[in-house]
Amino acid sequence: MSTDTKFGNYGGQYVPEALMPAIDELTDAYRRYVLENEDGFMDEFRDRIRDFGGRPTPLQRAEQLSARYGVDVYLKREDLLHGGAHKLNNALGQVLLAKYMGKERIIAETGAGQHGTATAMAAAHLDMPCEIYMGRRDINRQRPNVFRMRINGAEVTPVDVGRGTLKEAISETMRDWATTVETTHYVIGSIVGPAPFPAMVRDFHSVISEEIRAQSLDRLGGLPGSVVACAGGGSNTMGAFAELLDNEGVTLYAVEAGGSSLTVDEEAGVAPHSASLSTGEEGVLHGARTKLLQDSHGQIMESHSVSSGLDYSGVGPELSHLVDTGRVKPVTVGDDDALEAFHRLSQDEGIIPALETAHAFGFLEAVAGPDGDGSVEFDEPIVVNVSGRGDKDLEAAIEETEKRNLENAPRMEVFDR
Ligand SMILES: *Cc1c(COP(=O)(O)O)cnc(C)c1O
Repeated sequence: MSTDTKFGNYGGQYVPEALMPAIDELTDAYRRYVLENEDGFMDEFRDRIRDFGGRPTPLQRAEQLSARYGVDVYLKREDLLHGGAHKLNNALGQVLLAKYMGKERIIAETGAGQHGTATAMAAAHLDMPCEIYMGRRDINRQRPNVFRMRINGAEVTPVDVGRGTLKEAISETMRDWATTVETTHYVIGSIVGPAPFPAMVRDFHSVISEEIRAQSLDRLGGLPGSVVACAGGGSNTMGAFAELLDNEGVTLYAVEAGGSSLTVDEEAGVAPHSASLSTGEEGVLHGARTKLLQDSHGQIMESHSVSSGLDYSGVGPELSHLVDTGRVKPVTVGDDDALEAFHRLSQDEGIIPALETAHAFGFLEAVAGPDGDGSVEFDEPIVVNVSGRGDKDLEAAIEETEKRNLENAPRMEVFDR
């Protein structure tokens, strides 16, 4: 763990002057409480993520997948963490940090509502008032998550600016923070944003790879050969990789959303994918220099993915750096293959994964499945980080499945039309 503000060329603090006092105060708190365990902060975090969150999460052998691919496949079950995804590690860590800093109020932004939900849960648990900014369009698309946040006592504030999605919600939250920094902490939801957020969010999630390391040594008699995780902003990815970075024998794969195609039509202004690590160019977004989807004029392009959690034009600066150094290998899996993998894991292993997570399994199939391209010789055993469960995605998965003619999907014709 370190207070690095830069990862190679990436990272930094590209924020308006008004936010610098908040960033400086947070950097100091991060160093004291997280890195130096002042007042036993990290001990309390570990106790709470165990008792409230349900850690450690299991490392489970995937029997059908191991047989299908002829390699040993293990699942790191972050879907079993409270809330159904890895996101609570970070949300709980930051809300607790805000308490130690003497803050009285939590704000966050959310797109699909997963980060907002995790933050609302953590704030209720720690008895902190919480306000979540969410684009108007996203609110209407994500009703169940809006109910979850409200039921946990959070205020959900619609953002009507622009297209009413995540990008506008982030700007609105930044504006709030700049004027309320004395009393308020802004909980960023991935390893993105200005320093110290990328390093701090990584440190809260690195409990995932700490456990992978200990569980593998204990149960498999050694470290994994490969670790596979999906990457949107990249927080579950870095969490699954962090404590294994120094072990060069462990191959690390970050699976990005290949969307409907990797070919970009600039006229459209929207990329049909979210593969910023694989195809992006250096630029500045949300306070950090990183790999981004941008057009030939340097304008940020909107992204696309069937999974809302991977649908982001940027990615964490540390991951960008690790891709440049060759330590992390970026790969892409498209919408169709992710959906197929969603059904395969559900039917073969009895685990309905989040659509984000399904991308990681789509990668195994694309390489080692019956029609696999054999492009990679996997080092065994493989650990796949199951970043979240798919309950939140059932409507979307059914709708997207019906648009396609997927061989391995169940039909929903038990319902009256
Ligand atoms: C939010 C989310 C992601 C993507 O976020 P990262 O920061 O890239 O981890 C992936 N999987 C699930 C289940 C999520 O909820």
